[in-house]
Amino acid sequence: MLIQPKEDLLADSLVHAIAADGAVRCMAAVTTNLVAEAAARHAASHTVAAALGRTLTGALLLAAGVKELDRLTVQIDCTGPVGRITAEANGRGQARGYVRNPQADAPLNAQGKFDVRAIVGEGTFYVTYESGFDIGLYREPYRGSVPLVSGEIAEDFAYYLARSEQIPSAVMLGVLVRARGNGDHFIEAAGGIMIQIMPGADEHTVRAIESSVGQTPHTTTMIRHGARPIDLLQTALGEIPFEVLEEKTVEFACTCSHARALALISAMSAEEVRAMLEEDRGAVMTCHFCNATYHVKESELEQILHRIEKEGLDEAGRNA
Ligand code: ZN
Repeated sequence: MLIQPKEDLLADSLVHAIAADGAVRCMAAVTTNLVAEAAARHAASHTVAAALGRTLTGALLLAAGVKELDRLTVQIDCTGPVGRITAEANGRGQARGYVRNPQADAPLNAQGKFDVRAIVGEGTFYVTYESGFDIGLYREPYRGSVPLVSGEIAEDFAYYLARSEQIPSAVMLGVLVRARGNGDHFIEAAGGIMIQIMPGADEHTVRAIESSVGQTPHTTTMIRHGARPIDLLQTALGEIPFEVLEEKTVEFACTCSHARALALISAMSAEEVRAMLEEDRGAVMTCHFCNATYHVKESELEQILHRIEKEGLDEAGRNA
């Protein structure tokens, strides 16, 4: 059953703040529309919508704390039926993602919730940071990984931060799928909170945060009742004052286009392009990240083939 987006929602947004003189970094986001769009684009099962939505939200929260970031990718390589989850976020609040098997599903767990752990199973949690491209520098991407400890995603983000980056963190991620009277389902609420304890945070602050986080309701319960990211932070931080550094809208956005599809074909060999022409009289390319389909016409393939063959001749001429 397709998950329908819910109408009449405020734009999704994210807040990045600091507390305790910078010793605590905190981010919160409402991602209801973004998760609804991801689920609809991939015709995801409810359990996959929850898994992908949590991963996209976690990637956006993690990306918000990084300076000069071009792109952050979270990849969950796992043995469960979902196969693999990939989520990408940039510093401008855009995210996109996909899973290997969007139809993977499992019965509700003992608490009556989507059993994300059952479709994820065991595996490895990877985070890749890329930066420098926008200003013409090439820096080696930084990649960290940890084994999955939970499969429920939020705990895996927290374990990654603690283990790979030595940042003790509290991470809450939620996606709430609800049924309409007519049997359709929709994403009623999605979002998350991430609190990172940096070196130098004092004992009192850490204990106060642990206590208030422990009493914080589910993020989706708060969002369903109208909470915005700043309200989520206020609840999670309790009495601790915080300073907002940035507030921005977030959205599902992909970088694919017809021109990029043509560029991909241009990088193929003449034989491959000739086969597309002779066997299919065109090409259909689907973007993994957003499921958009690009139809490449016979005449476009002919032009590309002509160019590849000409380059091949020029190359041969130079090497002669
Ligand atoms: Zn795309």
